[in-house]
Amino acid sequence: MGVVSRKILFNPGPATTTDSVKQALVVSDICPREKEFGEVMREVRDRLVEAVTDSDDYTSVIFTGSGTTAVEATLSSVVPHDGRLMVLVNGDYGERMVNIADVYGIPVVSAEFGSGEYPDLARLERMLDEGTGDVTHLAFVHHETSTGLLNPLVDLCTMARSRGIETVVDAMSSYAGMPIDVEESGIQYLIASSNKCIQGMPGLGFTICSLESLEKTREVAPRNFSLNLYRQHRYFEDHGQMQFTPPVQTFYALRQALEEYFQEGPERRFRRYRDNWQTLYRGLEELGFRFLLPTEHQSRILLSVVEPDHEGYSFAGMHDYLYERGITVYPGKAPGQRVFRLSVLGALLEEDIETFLSVLREYLADRRIVLQ
Ligand SMILES: *Cc1c(COP(=O)(O)O)cnc(C)c1O
Repeated sequence: MGVVSRKILFNPGPATTTDSVKQALVVSDICPREKEFGEVMREVRDRLVEAVTDSDDYTSVIFTGSGTTAVEATLSSVVPHDGRLMVLVNGDYGERMVNIADVYGIPVVSAEFGSGEYPDLARLERMLDEGTGDVTHLAFVHHETSTGLLNPLVDLCTMARSRGIETVVDAMSSYAGMPIDVEESGIQYLIASSNKCIQGMPGLGFTICSLESLEKTREVAPRNFSLNLYRQHRYFEDHGQMQFTPPVQTFYALRQALEEYFQEGPERRFRRYRDNWQTLYRGLEELGFRFLLPTEHQSRILLSVVEPDHEGYSFAGMHDYLYERGITVYPGKAPGQRVFRLSVLGALLEEDIETFLSVLREYLADRRIVLQ
């Protein structure tokens, strides 16, 4: 038993954390400009890279902020002023990248597919070819957390690579949750945050960068002051510090979370998530629930569940019933469909899934909700 009561979180991050990660927050006060803290940051920086490659040709650049901070830092820093970005949009987080590019006046082509729709690769290829010589960067979301759809990372990267286009991948909710190899896939920039599959505390966004590509961005005049990828990298290289105040305790927690990630092992973490998802899927199916996406497009990290069409049901009612019993469920995002979302990312065990299913069964019986 930990010092605080355990909760089961099905929101897609900030996720359920282990007691040891929570305890890692409690450290002596330290000035973040001390060398001792610089060493903590260096270790975190290097291990973040190790999670996605053994190659020395990559580094990670870390920012104080949420995941969106790192997406914004990356897009605003890497696209040259005479370059052009294409964004694959098939969900809210793809849309967000287009919105970020717009704010900065970065020329952006949005390759629109319906939300939750698997991308038509031939169509995307045609769009890229129409713009070749013009599009310098392709950005996409690996796991669209808005619906649970998994985009074909390797195919998309191959498509970009064969055209000399660099890739920017929002891997916020897949990094450390499923195997990714940035070098093999030829990814230049891969973005994630401290509070999703890596199972740390919120407060840090980071980008795994190809050093060669990052070095080239030195030539791109900064579009903002505190979110420039190259400057943040350069400053850390020169001083062993972040430019601006880091969330000190979150760094200690992330160091612990990384330790636990490597202890569990990438394969076992992947299997734990996948097995928990499978248990969830089967259990809900048995209860009569249906799902937004076909199985073959599911990430197996998040499930969008179609809401019961029954007068006794409301999302708020279900949410509150579960919340009072230590379980948090999350509203959905799907055009034209009422869904709620359940994410298995975090320090969840099979017994947590079983607990949830039995409390949900209890709720349905209590409200006399019949699913067909
Ligand atoms: C969580 C998430 C983000 C970032 O969200 P923040 O609230 O800024 O941390 C971005 N993209 C995807 C795919 C996500 O899942």
